[in-house]
Amino acid sequence: MAAKQADQPPREDDLTSTIKSLALKAGGDVVGVAPVARWDEFVPEGYRPYDILPGAKFVVVVGTRGPTMGAWKCPDARLMEVNGYDFANDRAIHVVANHIETETGFYAMQAPTLPVAGHQPLMSMMLAAVLAGLGTRSFAANIILNPKYGLLYYSAAITTAELMPDGMLEQQVCPAPMCVATYRNIGKTPCMAACPADEGGCLDGSIDGDGRIEEVYYDRERCSTRSMNFGINSFQKALAEIIEEQDSERRSAMINSDFFTRSCTSMGHFKESVAQCFECMRVCPIGRAERKLQ
Ligand code: SF4
Ligand code: SF4
Repeated sequence: MAAKQADQPPREDDLTSTIKSLALKAGGDVVGVAPVARWDEFVPEGYRPYDILPGAKFVVVVGTRGPTMGAWKCPDARLMEVNGYDFANDRAIHVVANHIETETGFYAMQAPTLPVAGHQPLMSMMLAAVLAGLGTRSFAANIILNPKYGLLYYSAAITTAELMPDGMLEQQVCPAPMCVATYRNIGKTPCMAACPADEGGCLDGSIDGDGRIEEVYYDRERCSTRSMNFGINSFQKALAEIIEEQDSERRSAMINSDFFTRSCTSMGHFKESVAQCFECMRVCPIGRAERKLQ
């Protein structure tokens, strides 16, 4: 559809409230808006929103919950990966971008969250969520926790349109008061106790006298070997071994193995970015009330 040039550009507060309500209707749970200048302090030239879309002024960020409340209750943790994620944040952000372009005549594009080369994506959705006032970093794998929903999945749209910005959160969401109390008692918060670095896990850290994060330890490499076993990397690794295998019976067993089958499935469903471990989030009190049904 051709973009409509608006006779009169919409007022930024009207446009902002329209795209926020569209994003929520399209499956978003939260929406925030950040001016592009907020990136200047945190990322180098070449990785700022206006480097990706020249003339960009604002970034709209949408967060969605991913796994349903029932999926969190399922006793088989592996089903969180299989059933957990429906990309509603991507859908919602496309609705936002399409509305901006077709109804206002300004440019909009989805922020690139996958690398175009190597392993570094052009934009961090974690940073975008923080800068749009939707959450703050936590002890649990640095996951950005939203004060209402806890763990969310984020997508963003960069636009040249003028919008009304949201403020960033003033209060750190993590640690929750009960986590501070647990830390004072046993020296660990619930997420650290679920995945303790000193017992082969990935998390550690300290809380200061005011109940705020003092130091965070997160073993990202160890976590990724546990929580991201299937995807493009596992497919490439298994394929290289299959090609090298001379014994045809063994090669056939490798092709039909559980590991290679799951690697193919994860690519077919484009689930590389979905973790296979949620244990630090399962014990996190933030957002737990939103997961309660009958
Ligand atoms: S995702 Fe799993 S492995 Fe990674 S920090 Fe959380 S509990 Fe540990
Ligand atoms: S359990 Fe959640 S709120 Fe508590 S310290 Fe860990 S990440 Fe923070």
